[in-house]
Amino acid sequence: MAEVSLRVRYSYLPQQFEDSEEILEEIRRHLTGCNFTLGPEVDQFERSFASLIGTRCAIGVGSGTEALTLSLRALGIGHGDEVITAANTFIATVGAINATGAKPVLVDVAPDFTIDPAKIERAITPRTKAILPVHLTGEAAEMGPILEIGSRRGLAVVEDACQAISASYKGRNAGTMGILAAFSLHPLKNLNVWGDAGVIVTSDPALNERLRLLRNHGLKNRDEVEVLGYNSRLDSIQAIVGNWLIRQVDRITRERIAHGAIYDEAFSRVPGITLPPRRPYVRRVFHLYQVYARDRDRLFQFLLDKGIEAKIHYPIPLPLQRGLAGLGYKRGDFPETERQAGSVITFPVDQHLSREEIDTVVGAVKEFYGSR
Ligand SMILES: *Cc1c(COP(=O)(O)O)cnc(C)c1O
Repeated sequence: MAEVSLRVRYSYLPQQFEDSEEILEEIRRHLTGCNFTLGPEVDQFERSFASLIGTRCAIGVGSGTEALTLSLRALGIGHGDEVITAANTFIATVGAINATGAKPVLVDVAPDFTIDPAKIERAITPRTKAILPVHLTGEAAEMGPILEIGSRRGLAVVEDACQAISASYKGRNAGTMGILAAFSLHPLKNLNVWGDAGVIVTSDPALNERLRLLRNHGLKNRDEVEVLGYNSRLDSIQAIVGNWLIRQVDRITRERIAHGAIYDEAFSRVPGITLPPRRPYVRRVFHLYQVYARDRDRLFQFLLDKGIEAKIHYPIPLPLQRGLAGLGYKRGDFPETERQAGSVITFPVDQHLSREEIDTVVGAVKEFYGSR
């Protein structure tokens, strides 16, 4: 076999926006209208997004984080309340809960990277108001039991679907199962724009109305303030980029799934790699292609030395981060989250990856473990 020499980059953004003439043309047109906040581009994006996900309403906001904060605020959650979420997530989930004034209560995850439903009930207290499962890596959380606990215990279920556009669980799309769901359009997400942006989806008309107020200072019209709100609107220019890209989401999703399948097939025969459980009723959209690796740190360095940009999501267990010390967790509280931090590795899986690049990653991993 020839020496593996191809470099494999992680970021595909230069390829994705290589030809942006159409977007720039739209932005020029937008400039002549000078309708810089909300307006027709945002309306159009919201309609397309609701129809993509299969909800009645979509509300464009400033970021995925704000989509979560506003969702919780729309449910009346704030000081004195508790919200349960996964111990293994991106920091924004916990930050968003904290921003409402509520206390984030963490629950360990399962080997599929999502909150372990068997551990949720013991975290419920009289102050608990909501469960916030995270569809991490594009893998749907185990929503059946989560929704059952939510309805039996009278708790709202809000989905953090920031990594999970077009994922599904038992035929139901991520974002349609909770009362509200938050998506992110951050440049690193599967449907990405040119800066920060987020979307909330719901099929509840009253929540839709409330969220439209909350994102725009609580203003009912120019002069009347209905509730105390925020300034968190989806930027019109980002909506233009979103309108261009949303037409490609189905293809992007298909290609990521196809790339994930090639990796799965190859890695199922590599003894040092363990795939997470592949639940057959989940459509995982591979925001990240993440597996467990024996001797992870050495494999990671080996790949970087070869010019293969693997990543680790996330090397420090979230509950042990200094910034979360106030929550009072200690090592050993979340054994699965801690195990994952020490053993997961992420390989590029985006829609612009070539077959040759995928084979290069697989070849290098096999080489590391000395298997052919
Ligand atoms: C990206 C992300 C967010 C926050 O989205 P932003 O748009 O970056 O604010 C929240 N939760 C998860 C799981 C994410 O991956």
